[in-house]
Amino acid sequence: MTPRDAHNVSRHQISEGALQVLNGLHRAGFQAYLVGGSVRDLLLGREPKDFDVATDAHPEQVRKLFRRNARLIGRRFILVHVQFGHEIIEVATFRGSAGDQENETSGRSETGRILADNVYGSLEEDARRRDFTANALYYNIADRSILDFSTGMEDLRSGRLRIIGDPEQRYSEDPVRMLRAVRFAAKLGFTLDAAAQAPIAACRERLREVPSARLFEETLKLFLNGNAQTSFEHLRQHGLFAVLFPQVDALLDHAEYAAARALLQSALEGTDARVRDGKSVTPAFLFAALLWPALKQHSQRLEQQGKPATVALQQAASDVLQDCTGRVSVPRRFALTMREIWELQARFLRRGGRRPHALFAHPRFRAAFDFLSLRSQSGEIPATLVEWWERFQAADHDGRRTLIEQAR
Ligand code: ATP
Ligand code: MG
Repeated sequence: MTPRDAHNVSRHQISEGALQVLNGLHRAGFQAYLVGGSVRDLLLGREPKDFDVATDAHPEQVRKLFRRNARLIGRRFILVHVQFGHEIIEVATFRGSAGDQENETSGRSETGRILADNVYGSLEEDARRRDFTANALYYNIADRSILDFSTGMEDLRSGRLRIIGDPEQRYSEDPVRMLRAVRFAAKLGFTLDAAAQAPIAACRERLREVPSARLFEETLKLFLNGNAQTSFEHLRQHGLFAVLFPQVDALLDHAEYAAARALLQSALEGTDARVRDGKSVTPAFLFAALLWPALKQHSQRLEQQGKPATVALQQAASDVLQDCTGRVSVPRRFALTMREIWELQARFLRRGGRRPHALFAHPRFRAAFDFLSLRSQSGEIPATLVEWWERFQAADHDGRRTLIEQAR
C-alpha cells in the first residue's frame, strides 16, 4: 500500500465523472477504486485516455445508484457504463479468475483459452486476473492510497512490462495479451520483461484462435495510438506481424518490394504525426497502406496471366481483402473505402479532357491523393505526377485548363 502522501496521483487529475462514481459508490458503503490504464498513466504523469472503476457492488446495485446515467452492457461479463455528458465511466464488479474455479476446464477451449469469464471475486482475485503488473494498481477513493498486489509500483519506476502469473499460461488464456504487451511497450516506452518475451514464439500462432473482429480492433489500437512505427517494429521483431498479416510479412524483406515497404513505413510515420497533431486518422487509409505490398504482388501476377490491368487490380483487391479478413476482419465500410483508394490510383495517370475534374470531385479524392503522395515518397511513382495534381488543386478554372493541355 502506498499512502496518499507517497504518490503523485491527485484528485484534481481525475475526471469529474469518475469522481462522482467513486464517491457515490463509497458513500453507499461499497469499495470503489480507480484501476487499470488510468492509475498507470497518472502515476507516469501522462493523461489517461479514460477512467475505469472497480467495485464490490454488483451491476444491479451500481445501476440503482446512478439510475438515470447507468446502462448495463455486455453478455459475457456484465459491466455498467455510467455516462456524464460525453464521458463514459466503465464500472466493473471485482472478477474472479476462471482458472481459480474448481471446475478448471469449464469456460475454456481445448487450448486453455478463456471463453467464459463471468464469476465475481474479491479485490485480490480481480488484481490477479489482470494482464500486467502496471495495469493492476488500484487507487482507493476511501483513503486515496494506491494498492499494489504484485510489483506494479516498482515495475512502473523501472519501466518494465511484466506479466502477472505464468506468461505462457496467461498468453494461452488470451492470446491478445501478446498484442497488448507490444502495444504498452511501444506506448509507454517500457521494456518487455524477458519472461514475457520468451513464450511469444511458442504462443503466437494461438492468435489464430481469436475472433477476427477482435484482432481488427486490437490492430487499430496498435496502429492508431500515435506509436504505430514502434508497434510495427515490435510486432515484426516478435513474429506477431507474420501471424496477423502473413501475406504482407512474407514480402517485406524482398528487395523487389522495397518501395512497398517504404510506403508502409511512411504511412505509419504519417499516422503518428497526425495523431500527434490531433488530426483524424482513418482505419481505411492505414489498412490500404498495410495491404498494399500484397495487393501489388497479386495484381502483378494476375497481369502476367494476361488480365488487363484494371481487372487484375479489382480481382487482386477482392482476393487480398478476403484473405486478410480471414484473420483480421476489416469491416465492410472500411473495405469499400480501401478499394476506392486503390482503384483511384490508376485514374491519377489519365489527365485528358474532363477526367481530372471528375476525379477531383470524387468523394474519395483526398484519401486517394494522400495515398498517391505516399507512393511518390516511397519512390514508386515520379514526384512530377503528385506535383501536377497539387498545382491542379490550387489552380483556378483557366489554370486547370492550361494544366490539362500541358499534360497531354
Ligand atoms: P489504455 O490506455 O489503452 O486504455 P488500459 O490499460 O486501460 O490501456 P484497457 O483495454 O482499457 O487497457 O483495459 C483496462 C484494464 O483491464 C487493463 O489495465 C487491465 O488491467 C485489464 N485488462 C484489459 N484487457 C485484459 C486482458 N486481455 N487480460 C487481462 N486483463 C485485461
Ligand atoms: Mg482503458
